[in-house]
Amino acid sequence: MSYEGKMLEDFVMPTRKEVEQALLKTLFKHNGVIKEFATGEEIVNEIADEFSLNKAQRTVVLERVYRKENRIVKTPLWHRLLYRAADSLAKEKLVSKPTSTVLLTNKKEWMLTENGFDEALRLLNIPKSQKEHLQTKSYEVQKIVKKLIETPRPENYNPFYNEKRVAKVTRESAIRIRGFRQAVIEAYDYKCAFCGMKLNSLRDLSWEVEAAHIVPHSEKGKDDILNGLSLCHLHHWAFDAGWFAIENNFTIQVSSKVNSLHTDFGRMGDYDFIRIFSNKNYKMFLPKKKEIYPHQKAISWHRENKFHH
Ligand SMILES: [Zn+2]
Repeated sequence: MSYEGKMLEDFVMPTRKEVEQALLKTLFKHNGVIKEFATGEEIVNEIADEFSLNKAQRTVVLERVYRKENRIVKTPLWHRLLYRAADSLAKEKLVSKPTSTVLLTNKKEWMLTENGFDEALRLLNIPKSQKEHLQTKSYEVQKIVKKLIETPRPENYNPFYNEKRVAKVTRESAIRIRGFRQAVIEAYDYKCAFCGMKLNSLRDLSWEVEAAHIVPHSEKGKDDILNGLSLCHLHHWAFDAGWFAIENNFTIQVSSKVNSLHTDFGRMGDYDFIRIFSNKNYKMFLPKKKEIYPHQKAISWHRENKFHH
């Protein structure tokens, strides 16, 4: 038995498989990404806590002699085990290695892949059908987010898909839609662009806000950030129903039909989620980067085709 193998046995460390599973679950809880393992990293202790490791198990070090330089290198056994488990997950293509993730996000992190994401859902007994609503990142989704955020704003933007779309939802289109959602809500700092509402669930860190299409999907609206808007459930619904429009200067316009509504309608106690924007100068909340503001072509289409003047 190898020296490392013997140490693992002597200190009754968890098995590699157990650590792999704990890593997948922890990645999921941390929105799909964790930093490289280093001493003092919270994540190292967090997973150690899950296994209720004692002090010796957490601190014992492996000593290896670097013959070339004739010096002894000390690595905590627990870090070594974590690293080996993560590396093995990377070989199974369930996570991306920090050396590949850094090329995508500029951060040295382990990141779940789509397959790793599915495996984490399975381990946590979360139905796969919920995947559409979860905001946990994956390597493939982040690739799309990067592309959506970094594509230069076109002079002549067309918010519609030209080609005849295949009605069937493929794995690829499902990932594209998740990329769209992630990019849009991230751009708006997870807030409703109208009311500023920001809230996530404690269980799975999913956000209350949704990525709304300005030109709807049903009208062949594109899944890209220039045709997207981060909205809370209420304002998403009301925007789609034509109660609101967005002016070219990004102020919110409220339908005059609101005047014929019964005073009970659209109220939650004192909060009136439509009439609150009746003040003409109410400007919507926008992303930091101008290049990803909603496109005039999309918002003017919505004004002319969906809004009840
Ligand atoms: Zn809202």
